[in-house]
Formats: sequence, C-alpha cells, structure tokens
Amino acid sequence: MARFAKRVLSIEPSATVRISDLITDLKARGEKILSLAIGEPDFPTPAHIIDAAKKALDDGFTKYTPAPGIRELREAIAEKSQKDNRIPAKPENVLVAPTKHTLFMTCMALLDSGDEAIIPDPGWVSYAPMVTLAGARPVPVRAADMEGFVPSADAVSEAITPRTRLLMINSPSNPAGSVYSRDAIKALADLVKDHDLILVSDEIYEKILYEGEHVSPASLDGMFDRTVTVHGFSKTYSMTGWRLGWLVAPSPLFKEISKVQEHTITCATAFAQKAGVAALRGPTTPLQAMVKEFRARRDLVLKELATIEGLSTHRPTGAFYVFPRYDAEIDSATLSERILKEASVAVTPGSAFGEAGEGHLRISYAASRETIAEGLHRIREVFARI
Ligand code: PMP
Ligand code: GLU
Repeated sequence: MARFAKRVLSIEPSATVRISDLITDLKARGEKILSLAIGEPDFPTPAHIIDAAKKALDDGFTKYTPAPGIRELREAIAEKSQKDNRIPAKPENVLVAPTKHTLFMTCMALLDSGDEAIIPDPGWVSYAPMVTLAGARPVPVRAADMEGFVPSADAVSEAITPRTRLLMINSPSNPAGSVYSRDAIKALADLVKDHDLILVSDEIYEKILYEGEHVSPASLDGMFDRTVTVHGFSKTYSMTGWRLGWLVAPSPLFKEISKVQEHTITCATAFAQKAGVAALRGPTTPLQAMVKEFRARRDLVLKELATIEGLSTHRPTGAFYVFPRYDAEIDSATLSERILKEASVAVTPGSAFGEAGEGHLRISYAASRETIAEGLHRIREVFARI
C-alpha cells in the first residue's frame, strides 16, 4: 500500500478546478449546463498574442529559456510594473512562471514548519493548501461580509503571533470582487512593517476593475523590500491555458524563490513567453472591450440577484465574481448541488473559499449575458422552492 505524506493528506482537491472539470465532463456527455462557476474569461485570447506564439513556434523557439524568463519579457513586465503600478521593479526582480506556481514557490521559499501565514477568509481556494504544502499553518482572518470581505487591519493585527511570517492579500478579490482601498492597503502595509512580515500581493485581477483605483502595496514607502507581487496573463488577456504569469520580488527573496523554480519547472514555456511579450506590448483594445462587457454583466447579475428573495449581495467593483449571501438553512455545497441537479446551473459553493464563505454562493459572470439571465432565472426558481 502506498503511504502518503501528511502534507498532501491534509489538503483537499481544489473545489474550483473540480467543478470546472465536472462541467467539461457533463458538457462532453451532451448535458446542457449553464455555467456560472468558472473563474476564466469566456473571450478568445487576442489574435496578435496567438500570432506571436505561432511565430515563435515557426522560428523554433521551443527550447529551455533562462530560468527566470526571457529578457524581453522580464523587461516588459518591469516596465509595466513601474508604469501601471509604481513598483520600482527592475527586470532582475521579475520571475516568470505560471501564477499559481509563483504563489506556491513563494510559500516554499518563505515558510518553515511551525510558521504561520495569514490569509483572507473567504479567500481564493488555493492559498490555504499552498501554505499547508509548505509545512506551515494557514491562519484565516474573517472579514466583514458587507464590506466585501476586505480584511481589516484590526482583525489582521489580532491574528499576528511571533510565528507569523507572511500575509497574503488579493485585490481585486476572488471570490467577492472587492477592491481594497488605498487606506486599507496602507494600514495592512504598516502592520507588515511593524511586525517584520512579508506581504504577498496577488494582483491577478488588477485590470478587471470597474471603479476606484488599483493600489499595489509594493509601491508604498518601504514596502518594495518586503513584498512579493504576483500577477499573470490568465485574466487580463484571457490566457488561462497558457499557464503564464510572474512575480516581482526584491533581490534577496528573488534569489531564494528562483531556486525553487530551477528545481521544479526550470522555466515557463518558451513560446508562451513570446506571446506574453506581445500581450504586454500590444494593443489594449481587446482588454478594454472585455472589461466593458464584464461591467455590463456585473450590472445585469446585480439586477437579477436583487429580484431573488432571501439573497443579499455586496456590490463588487472588480474581478468577475459576485458572492451573494443567502438566508436559507442549507449548506452551500448542498445548495450548489441542488442548483446543478434541479436547474442545470453550476455555481461554486461559498464554503470552498473558507469558513466565512459558508452561507454564500460564488457566481462567476465570465459567461454570456444570455447564460447569466437564464441561469439566474433558474436559480430564482430553486430559491422559491427552498
Ligand atoms: N490568484 C487568484 C486570486 C485566482 O483567482 C487564480 C485563478 N486562476 C490564480 C491566482 C491562479 O492563476 P493562474 O490560473 O493564472 O495560475
Ligand atoms: N481561479 C479560478 C477560480 O477561482 C480558476 C480555478 C482555480 O485556479 O482555482 O475559479
């Protein structure tokens, strides 16, 4: 009998990945499922990005690249970080890797057994398992529902112990679509400095922003040296399948995290990196069109949700998720299953995102307006029966 490591036995499979795979299976079997579950833009990758990858393949750009990424991509990312985010990044601070892997490597490089990492609750499904895989303890900090689950500095401060090593934040956020204000980020940054922690800032939804400003903590006074900023191409350029992202870290952190890259994936896919350059240097019109459409869909979702009795929703200002709370006495996994069985609509149970997510559903509006309208109509009928 195989024996498994405690670290892997103590985590669950990813709920979001499972649901996404389940929907693909059901659809392949001919079932007509309306999906409001998947955290993936439903737009094609823009043509100029695909052309750059094709050209790279035709040019034979199919070998290992330098471990941290090709120079031109690291330069483009450093420029983007300086220009859009006011992060004083040099190409030497940029490590190219799939976004999920950047987070995992950061945990592996910074956490020891017995260490603690503070994560938002609710927060993205993979933060806690990544901390656990690195041997440390995830410490979820509950955040207030109607404030969009942005963890307050007070709550984070209470969770800090002598074992705390890092704090993870995510703005715009998954699953609530909230955007942390400048003041909120400043307050968290002050805690990080006061307690000598590292901040991991997941900014993958940066560009999917409808109101307000995106603040990168690494741009704040004294924060570059203690922040790992992670980002990627998946959402901004509709490139989930390309598995391409990056992190920006000060040199001492970069050096240690790079070792994990060199001993795991070596480098990101060569021709995908060329596509990444085209994405960053190319026209922004596809992104603008996508965000405009997402905004209209957000408004549609909010309008429809308001007609469902027993639901209340914080108004999201970024990403493509809404995270309504329901009154019914039923757990979110059972409710999501009922919605799938009775209405053929897939949503993600709030419990997938932490204890504080229970009693909520995550609705992704990375789906057509017709799917959204029909899906929510069917959800309304399920709610009428419970
Ligand atoms: N962070 C957040 C908040 C996410 O929602 C996701 C999901 N895709 C990731 C990181 C990972 O991104 P990728 O799939 O590009 O690795
Ligand atoms: N991040 C997306 C989601 O939350 C994609 C799946 C995943 O990587 O978790 O649905």
